[in-house]
Amino acid sequence: MEKRELLYTGKAKSVYATDDADHLVILFRNDTSAFDGKKVEQLDRKGMVNNKFNAFIMEKLAAAGIPVHQEKLLSDNESLVKRLTMIPVECVVRNFAAGSLVRRLGVEEGKELLPPTFELFLKNDALGDPMVNEYHVRSFGWATDEQLQRMKELSFKVNEVLKQLFDGGNMLLVDFKLEFGLFHGDIVLGDEFSPDGCRLWDKDTRKKLDKDRFRQGLGGVVEAYEEVGHRLGVKFD
Ligand code: ADP
Ligand code: UDP
Repeated sequence: MEKRELLYTGKAKSVYATDDADHLVILFRNDTSAFDGKKVEQLDRKGMVNNKFNAFIMEKLAAAGIPVHQEKLLSDNESLVKRLTMIPVECVVRNFAAGSLVRRLGVEEGKELLPPTFELFLKNDALGDPMVNEYHVRSFGWATDEQLQRMKELSFKVNEVLKQLFDGGNMLLVDFKLEFGLFHGDIVLGDEFSPDGCRLWDKDTRKKLDKDRFRQGLGGVVEAYEEVGHRLGVKFD
């Protein structure tokens, strides 16, 4: 597989074509952003940590029967993935209240959500990723009803697999965001799963081990991501 031209530079990753139309190379950069790109910093080692962390998680999800785009790690900062036609909607599952849910509904941070809840956001930085509902997704043609139901089913399945995995490392999976796309007509999990796109708290102390450390200026961001990885057995070097 040969890496070809740069197709897209996102806020944290760069996407390259390959000599095969069905595959892409994703480069995980050290850029870290929050608040729809308004706060941006370079964090040493973050690209490598997220690339390896994501590869580990995607392997666990694939083993549980979830279709994932990840093919293999290519280097410290690069992965080979299936080229998806992305659905421009973010799927968020929440097990505990935090972040925008707390701001929107005025509930207490940390309130357990039984059953877990599911939200959809349009991927559009200029509009601040507005929350949308299932009718919007169908009416604007972002996904068909069948695709939407599959994304929801897979999101909850990811939650079951990962809640248990993080529990084994004494962590609570508070919430997370997934992005799906189409590969030859099938819904496949794309993008990444890393502490950049989820919330993880230590079960005993509720110490934040995710991107909220960056959003809230708590420091020790990459150190926390590495701690999460070490608790799960991810090898970084
Ligand atoms: P953003 O676009 O939000 O700034 P990133 O910096 O993470 O995010 O850029 C990665 C981009 O690549 C995202 O737009 C994401 O939707 C897209 N992407 C992720 N996985 C795939 C894939 N397998 N095929 C095509 N595009 C993908
Ligand atoms: N999330 C993300 N990208 C986004 C928006 C949210 O990865 O563009 C993740 C976020 O890290 C958290 C979950 O989705 O784990 C829910 O985010 P929330 O709606 O609470 O928004 P936030 O307050 O984090 O912006």
